[in-house]
Amino acid sequence: MPNPSLLILPGDGIGPEVMTEVRRVVSWFGDKRGLNFDVSEDLVGGAAYDAHGTPLTDATMDKAQAVDAVLLGAVGGTKYDNLDFSVKPERGLLRLRKEMDLFANLRPAQCFDALADFSSLKRDVVAGLDIMIVRELTSGIYFGEPRGIIEEGNERVGINTQRYSESEIERVARSAFELAMKRDKKLCSMEKANVMESGVLWREVVTRVGADYPEVELSHMYADAGAMQLTRWPKQFDVIVTDNLFGDMLSDLAAMLTGSLGMLPSASLGLPMANGRPKALYEPVHGSAPDIAGQGKANPIACILSFAMALRYSFDQGEEAARLERAVEAVLAQGLRTPDLLGEENRAPVTTSEMGDAILAAL
Ligand code: ATP
Ligand code: MG
Repeated sequence: MPNPSLLILPGDGIGPEVMTEVRRVVSWFGDKRGLNFDVSEDLVGGAAYDAHGTPLTDATMDKAQAVDAVLLGAVGGTKYDNLDFSVKPERGLLRLRKEMDLFANLRPAQCFDALADFSSLKRDVVAGLDIMIVRELTSGIYFGEPRGIIEEGNERVGINTQRYSESEIERVARSAFELAMKRDKKLCSMEKANVMESGVLWREVVTRVGADYPEVELSHMYADAGAMQLTRWPKQFDVIVTDNLFGDMLSDLAAMLTGSLGMLPSASLGLPMANGRPKALYEPVHGSAPDIAGQGKANPIACILSFAMALRYSFDQGEEAARLERAVEAVLAQGLRTPDLLGEENRAPVTTSEMGDAILAAL
């Protein structure tokens, strides 16, 4: 069997800085665990624009389509603010998501014990929290037609349409059930079937797909009640699947239960490829953070945990992913903090590379 392939796209701002630490982690798994990847690297975003006049070349796009997983740092920066919309750095990322058809966006909300006091909620509510929100990413009210602002009588009316086909619901539901099978076998689907037709269909299709996963305990909840339950007692959930709009809100809410933007990984998955692996792009939730770029202040953990997600969801290496997560947990327990994790605490922060060193040592 050939080695699994990984395309690294460091991007802009703190992207290359955090990716430097991830590269060391990737090498560690090759050297110490015999888990070798064929790693290739390319430009994306402003870096690609500077070199090629476009935020994503066709050649890079083709590579992304061919590899087992893409790992991306971040794109954008103030330097590119005045560029034409068609070549803005963000367009590179949007093109990747669209052409790879990444319809399932996975955002974990995981609370490391050492950071439990960093949450705005009480320690016992968040300590040990480990849930995953699956947000449908390519359809729903953000894309449905008709849309626009029209004249009606003597005023204007803004219109968006929530629209979901059975196949769109089915494929994201299937991704969520597959995930649940790799986790605690518990899935909660959220919509508003009480007031929305798309919600009625959503619930029906998710239930139907569930018949293929008898081991997974499926429940349904209205999304507003879900928001309430997520802040009241989030540990009641394992995997949550929901539509694009609700997922946007619920994943931000859930993520912030646990602390800093510098800690949050994500995955975006598409249909299975010929080898059975899903099309996949892994990236930290944070952006390029131009305000701290080049100063060694960036927290590399979000990007490192994104690689842990790749290990688990693209490469079936759940135990190795857990090993990496335990290493992160250990350095946090030792008290190491990049500036974003310090808050009011009066402690000397570590740099990006010192955090990387510590994680490698913990591994
Ligand atoms: P984008 O539009 O690309 O999402 P944004 O404007 O939402 O970007 P981010 O780049 O995500 O902003 O970051 C917001 C702020 O959070 C940054 O300015 C930075 O101070 C902080 N931040 C983000 N990521 C990190 C990180 N990895 N480590 C430390 N601080 C971070
Ligand atoms: Mg942002």
